[in-house]
Amino acid sequence: STDNPPAATRVSIIGTGYLGATHAVCMSELGFSVVGVDIDPGKVANLAAGRVPFFEPGLEELLRKNLDTGRLTFTTSFTDAAAADVHFLCVGTPQRPDSPAADLSHLVSAVDRLLAAGPKPGSLLVGKSTVPAGTAAALARRLATEAPLVGLAWNPEFLREGFAVEDTMRPDRLVLGLQADDGGRAEGMLRAIYASAIEAGTPLVLTDFATAELVKVAANAFLATKISFINAMAEICEATGGDVKTLAAALAHDARIGGRFLGAGVGFGGGCLPKDIRAFQARAAELGAGYAVGFLAEVDAINLRRRTRMAELTTELLGGSVAGRRVAVLGAAFKPNSDDIRDSPALDVANLLHRAGAVVTVTDPAAVPNARQRHPELSYADNAVQAATDADIVLHLTEWSDFREIDPVALASYVRTPTVIDGRNALDVARWRAAGWSYYALGRPRV
Ligand code: NAD
Repeated sequence: STDNPPAATRVSIIGTGYLGATHAVCMSELGFSVVGVDIDPGKVANLAAGRVPFFEPGLEELLRKNLDTGRLTFTTSFTDAAAADVHFLCVGTPQRPDSPAADLSHLVSAVDRLLAAGPKPGSLLVGKSTVPAGTAAALARRLATEAPLVGLAWNPEFLREGFAVEDTMRPDRLVLGLQADDGGRAEGMLRAIYASAIEAGTPLVLTDFATAELVKVAANAFLATKISFINAMAEICEATGGDVKTLAAALAHDARIGGRFLGAGVGFGGGCLPKDIRAFQARAAELGAGYAVGFLAEVDAINLRRRTRMAELTTELLGGSVAGRRVAVLGAAFKPNSDDIRDSPALDVANLLHRAGAVVTVTDPAAVPNARQRHPELSYADNAVQAATDADIVLHLTEWSDFREIDPVALASYVRTPTVIDGRNALDVARWRAAGWSYYALGRPRV
């Protein structure tokens, strides 16, 4: 609000990964004094030096601009964060290694550290991480005994990697999970934080903790279901000789269905959708309501089947065995405009083929360094031409525009055999065929 200039409001961002680093930079851009706290000293050093340790269009420029103002700092010290008026919890909530449930240990440890550092009385803790329903209520009970003067709100984040800055500055909606008995304090503080987005007309949903937590997982469950729905139709097309791309385009003319998230291909991945639908099922089961989201097991299974199908089709096209054959994989990130390789379909397919004895070379415009670190067993190339040199088959697995723009005539002169499987149904079929390629795709008839 105007009587409380932003710079006077101090904001801490706890956990400066994809979500937290973006949120820190954007809060500073809005004029708040921001400190980003992370337990990873390397990440903090990079951010403090003006380097975004992941690929996100536009973010590094904005980071540097805001570091220069002096309003934005990064630290590993929770003591530096304790003086803030508003703390955003942005730590990771990954899948547990031994079960489908969410691992909340980072969240618990971040709260431990903040409480040990002594947050200001009257300050507000705002959860942004994606969590199982009931997490905020449990945290509220903890604060009531350990820090009764610290408020709590849950404000799930919907940003998309690749569009993180614009999604943070102009979100589709703001969801605020609030406690009924705090006299409207948290709502007031968050309305001031998000004043510019609210004034610009961003829909504001005020609700309870459980609903706020659920909006996020329900949104991801819906998106995952839409992708798996069209991929199930692709499986049926493969059985009947139908064409899933034409089917999807026809479905999309119905405004109730719409065309977004209706692209058949090798499926979804990343650090959100897969783990969120698994954690959702695990939490629902704990609550005795597992039956309500049992279909998400099928959504997950359909999605994972596309990866094995991709490997099977590759094997079939190479005559029944991939042993010793050269496979070029276009894509390592789980989606374009990101270097995020968490649960990447492209790398999963690459590994299936590698384990079956193929010589796999992966290329990606942004994600090769991350992929090399996680999967040193694979080979990497700087570009599609290098990856495809002497290849027996080319697999298109991440929908970067760079790959769509490849000249199939030029690429054909480097490969041993001009065979391509378009795992994203995104290449220009006529152009590739005209250039002499045998073109195959998931869910489409062979010509
Ligand atoms: P991330 O792994 O990139 O970042 C998490 C950060 O938290 C890391 O830098 C880690 O070092 C730090 N951290 C861990 N424990 C900590 C502690 N005790 N104290 C301080 N920092 C700690 O993960 P992310 O992709 O940014 O996701 C964070 C949360 O946001 C998750 O719940 C995720 O589901 C949710 N989310 C992510 C996105 C996205 O597109 N990445 C979008 C919406 C929501």
